[in-house]
Amino acid sequence: MKRLPGADGRRKLARAERRHVEWGGAAVSGGGPPMYDLVIRGARLFDGSGGPPRTADLAVSGDYIAAIGDLGAAEAQRELRADGLALAPGFIDVHTHDDRAVLDGDMAPKISQGVTSVVVGNCGVSLAPLTLPGAPPPPLDLLGGQGDYRFPTMAEYLTALDRAGGATNTAALVGHSTLRVGTMDDVQRPARPAEIAAMRERLREGLVAGAIGFSTGLGYAPSAAAPTGEVMALAGELAPLGALHTTHMRDESDHVAEALEEAFAIGRHALVPVVISHFKVSGRGNWGRSPMTLAQWRKAAGGQPLALDAYPYAASSTVLKSDYVAEAPRVLITWSKSHPEQAGRDLDEIAADWGLDRAAAAERLQPAGAVYFSMDEDDVRRILAFPETMIGSDGLPHDQHPHPRLWGAFPRVLGHYAREVGLFPLEEAIRRMTSLSAERFGLVDRGTLAEGAFADLVIFDPATVKDSATFADPKRPAA
Ligand code: ZN
Repeated sequence: MKRLPGADGRRKLARAERRHVEWGGAAVSGGGPPMYDLVIRGARLFDGSGGPPRTADLAVSGDYIAAIGDLGAAEAQRELRADGLALAPGFIDVHTHDDRAVLDGDMAPKISQGVTSVVVGNCGVSLAPLTLPGAPPPPLDLLGGQGDYRFPTMAEYLTALDRAGGATNTAALVGHSTLRVGTMDDVQRPARPAEIAAMRERLREGLVAGAIGFSTGLGYAPSAAAPTGEVMALAGELAPLGALHTTHMRDESDHVAEALEEAFAIGRHALVPVVISHFKVSGRGNWGRSPMTLAQWRKAAGGQPLALDAYPYAASSTVLKSDYVAEAPRVLITWSKSHPEQAGRDLDEIAADWGLDRAAAAERLQPAGAVYFSMDEDDVRRILAFPETMIGSDGLPHDQHPHPRLWGAFPRVLGHYAREVGLFPLEEAIRRMTSLSAERFGLVDRGTLAEGAFADLVIFDPATVKDSATFADPKRPAA
């Protein structure tokens, strides 16, 4: 596992490690053919660029791709035949809540999908920097309980990450809601100047320690009271350190157009790239608005650096929120602290059992999480097919009955949306989870198959790859 460095250290590290490849890579043994650690033979190489695949061999030495081509004469410690299979750069999950999972999990939900790098700390919620006097408020409870918030600084979190030796590479964001909860005595109001200064100090510490950016979750209670100016002030820390801003916007429903404008304005003000997280239009009254919101994004992107990610499902998931309950045709409970036996059931069924209306049943289940079937399939497809859309799972690894995106997002794009629905060719599906993601998040020498790039690799059968996780049975690894 490698912690992916912040902007400052990125290029330096990449250069130093490249030199290591040249010196210590393929050892030449007595003038004979080179000896590699691993050679994969006969696969169809999808290099991440979106170009058509080609059949070739690929050799790995240490952490790096050492050679690509006809390596018939080359010897290796280990050889793999991969005839007819796809070989691609390991997928990058740009939108995760794996902050804790990367410390203490085997990352099976991600590794089983071919994901080799994750971006944590999205939606304003990061595990660091924060310690808590009591239970974390929603949505910080998505990551764990009081005891899990044990890193007063980002540097301590990143040190723990380095020690953990987890299965994926990790790039971290500092969350706005985490900063607010850790700095303010009351988060239901705008931050005062001294609090903004304290948050900026913590944010700067995080970026200097190696975080790659700053995330907001303005739709959630701990940050909803933050005016645009507060976010602009905090985002002022980003540009000097080459960091970026990701946002779960203030509104993804009736006021989605205004929320997009706010996100764009923050980027222009702070001169930073902005990633619109889990791009969607939510709520039945907004179905069919994605052509407008995508056009709005496209127009703004002509004048400032913008990116966006999406997951391949027409249902969202987060903590149980009354405004989301009100606008979703169907709600599935993913966990409940007060009624854990109800996880995996529909809210309407629970309400009927209890003789309550939906809102009252939701109140009784708190604190809790839910899946909201609140999007239109046509909008989902239109957003996925948009050429700038990166894939991010938004999976919630600690939920009792999680949204299937946790185990299925990437194979669902490859199998369902690329192969079966034909939204785009396989090479284009792969580009949206590799080179595009690495480029937008500044992850050097990842997301591509090239000599000298990191050997983050995935092999799969393009004819059969498919998600198996469903809303009813969400913890099934991909086929
Ligand atoms: Zn979010």
